[in-house]
Parts: sequence; structure tokens; C-alpha cells
Amino acid sequence: MEQDHPLIRDAFPDLIAELIALLEDEGERELAICAWDLRLVDECGCGDGFCQSIRTADHPRGQPYGPGHRCVPLLPSKGMLILDVVDGRIMYIEILDRPPMHRRGPQP
Ligand SMILES: [Zn+2]
Repeated sequence: MEQDHPLIRDAFPDLIAELIALLEDEGERELAICAWDLRLVDECGCGDGFCQSIRTADHPRGQPYGPGHRCVPLLPSKGMLILDVVDGRIMYIEILDRPPMHRRGPQP
């Protein structure tokens, strides 16, 4: 069912462009390639005004990611971008203290 989720590069092209550039700066080439195909599975939903985080894979909320998990903090010009990666797969994009993102294309 993953194909039903919109590509983030369609919904938030500026975000993906920045993410890929930051990942390449960090030497994370594999993740930069993955980022292009990330899908918007769900919004974080925590309701915090400063949080625009995106879930990019199906994973039970509140469950630990397990031993293959690592955090990849990036250094954007504004706010914070932190990836949760499990076994090379980007599960979650933490997007904090960033200017409001305006989604393109049809709303769900
Ligand atoms: Zn949140």
C-alpha cells in the first residue's frame, strides 16, 4: 500500500532539495539517494506548533526502532532537521523550529 502515499518531493519539493544537499554535505550519499523517493506516510501529529515532522515509513507510534537505528542530525540554515534511520531506511524526518511548509498538490 506504500504506493498510495504521496512523494515528499511532490508535496514539499523545497524540503527534499534541502535535505539531499545537506545529506551530501554530510557524506551520506546513500541516504541522499533514498531521500528522493521518500513518501509522506503521515504527519507527526503531536500538535506542537514548532513541529512539522513527517513519518516516512510505517512504524508503530511510540515503539523503539531497534538495534539498526541511528539518528542523523543535519545542519540546515534554519531550525533543525534530524533523520531517524533504521538499517539504511529513512523512517522519520524530524522537522523542528522551521518556517511553515506549504504543501503543494492535492490535499489528502
Ligand atoms: Zn511532532
